[in-house]
Amino acid sequence: MMTDSPASALLAWYDVSRRDLPWRSHPGAPADPYHVWLSEVMLQQTTVAAIAPRFQRFLDRWPTVADLAAAADEDVMAEWAGLGYYARARNLLKCARVVAAEHGGQFPSTEAELATLPGIGGYTAAAVAAIAFGQNATPIDGNIERVTARLFRIETQLPAAKPEIKTRAVSIAPPDRPGDFAQAMMDLGATICLPRQPRCLACPIQTFCQAQKAGVAADLPKKAPKKVKPLRQGRAYWLERADDQVLLRRRKPKGLLGAMVEFPSYGWSDDEAPASIETLASEWFAVTPPVVHVFTHFRLELSVLCGRVTDAAAPEDCFWRPVDQLGDVGLPSVMQKAAKAAIMGD
Ligand code: SF4
Repeated sequence: MMTDSPASALLAWYDVSRRDLPWRSHPGAPADPYHVWLSEVMLQQTTVAAIAPRFQRFLDRWPTVADLAAAADEDVMAEWAGLGYYARARNLLKCARVVAAEHGGQFPSTEAELATLPGIGGYTAAAVAAIAFGQNATPIDGNIERVTARLFRIETQLPAAKPEIKTRAVSIAPPDRPGDFAQAMMDLGATICLPRQPRCLACPIQTFCQAQKAGVAADLPKKAPKKVKPLRQGRAYWLERADDQVLLRRRKPKGLLGAMVEFPSYGWSDDEAPASIETLASEWFAVTPPVVHVFTHFRLELSVLCGRVTDAAAPEDCFWRPVDQLGDVGLPSVMQKAAKAAIMGD
């Protein structure tokens, strides 16, 4: 067994210690792109343990991407309940339909093509390309970021360190097993190279790890110290109607973000959304983590709550707009972040 490089040592460990996850293929078999894509989209918002049974239920119901593409919107929305928010399920469906209609039911295999599909960002495109198609793509999630920063003792603070981390991770990714390498790094970060207390004695790449040698493993990656500003917390309500419209509100003409359009929000400024807003949907799901936005004099943590209604009259000062026209209403950047969180989960 060749263990003369971090990648070979890591892959040798992965071959015997990999996590058994329902979307993974058996050793030596290529992973199904539909499974990889579905799991990555689900994982963007919650944990592996929470996802596993839901993933299987989804697959039992829609075994292929073509089956999912042909599903009724409401069935998918209902199956998605509890997994976060419906905008992501809608994007999932949109993506499945584009794959079915424009790609003959087969996911494209390159990172660049995958990134053009609805709801697929840079990380997911790289993950699917590497894991399902063996392409030389290197997805960087939080686990891979941490392992790489420690392996190479990258002392630069995040987020400035991101390009260096990416370059380093790419430099050690083996061209013959890029998907297994990415998953091995993810597994190492999730089980051994833990954020606060890395278990270096159990680590298969310990002999290569510069942070461990220097005794600074637990201190990396470094994060820029946060400037202390007062913290305010609030809520924004992303309410979707069955005809793909979302509820907006025009803020008061004066004051913070005066006269600007927002998702009705509450708790962080003196211009509060109507109290009745929460009664409009029977269930609300919080996007995690909250949206963070720094204003000149304070830092805002805005919880984005997502709900769905069949129909409802807009409360005072509120109005409905199609989701695909949100780019035209001039949302302030904090609300653009809220929209991105509701739609993309980040
Ligand atoms: Fe992480 Fe320790 Fe392994 Fe280095 S030796 S990669 S710090 S677990």
